[in-house]
Amino acid sequence: MEVELIAHTPNPEETIEKAARICYDSKVGTQERREKFLRGLVKSGHTATIEHVSATFMIKGVSRALTHELVRHRLMSFCQRSQRYCNEDGFQLVVPPSIKNNDELYGEWTKLMDRISTLYRTMIDERHNIPKEDARYILPNACFTQICVTANFREWRHFLELRLDKRAQWEIRNLAHIILVKLNELAPSIFGDLSETYLDGPF
Ligand SMILES: Cc1cc2nc3c(=O)[nH]c(=O)nc-3n(C[C@H](O)[C@H](O)[C@H](O)COP(=O)(O)OP(=O)(O)OC[C@H]3O[C@@H](n4cnc5c(N)ncnc54)[C@H](O)[C@@H]3O)c2cc1C
Repeated sequence: MEVELIAHTPNPEETIEKAARICYDSKVGTQERREKFLRGLVKSGHTATIEHVSATFMIKGVSRALTHELVRHRLMSFCQRSQRYCNEDGFQLVVPPSIKNNDELYGEWTKLMDRISTLYRTMIDERHNIPKEDARYILPNACFTQICVTANFREWRHFLELRLDKRAQWEIRNLAHIILVKLNELAPSIFGDLSETYLDGPF
């Protein structure tokens, strides 16, 4: 998968500090004071303060199975490659390791995917002219897709807490891991606690 941080609120930690200090009538301070203050906000659960900043990721080469889970996060904003409008002829696939490593089943899986690919191409050709929005009904969950996601930091933290947990599905967990690395580089005082728990954890 490819995950790129394409935009974010400028100076996110400074912005959160400025907003949150209003609550306490306290003054913006040194970098050290800022870090301590921001970590304290997160620890205490005063997380409305981190809604003031957001980050946007461009995500490519993940499966439709993953994005079906991702779009359940209702406070995020999305644009996704449409299977109604885009030609999926020659689609690429995410292969779960459990299938790829199974010599008996992987061959069968590949044959079925090839058959789906051929039938999709036949359906949308000039002779049959099935609309792409109908031909897509045979496409597998494994199909590559592209999605652009924007969320504020409170929602990113919520997403990360749910999707980094070992009960989360492996592909979205991998995505969450990459997103945490990037958000932690951007705002370590906001995502540092999650990094300490999950980036050094048993991945
Ligand atoms: C391990 C795991 C297994 C899962 N299994 C299933 C499954 O089997 N079937 C299934 O359908 N889903 C499943 N899900 C998806 C899950 O039910 C949620 O839809 C998804 O995780 C989004 O979480 P959320 O609603 O907390 O987040 P968001 O939609 O991002 O919302 C963030 C927070 O905003 C608040 N919020 C948002 N909308 C409302 C609202 N309408 N009313 C009140 N508060 C609101 C809540 O506090 C919520 O936690 C699973 C998720 C995980 C992590």
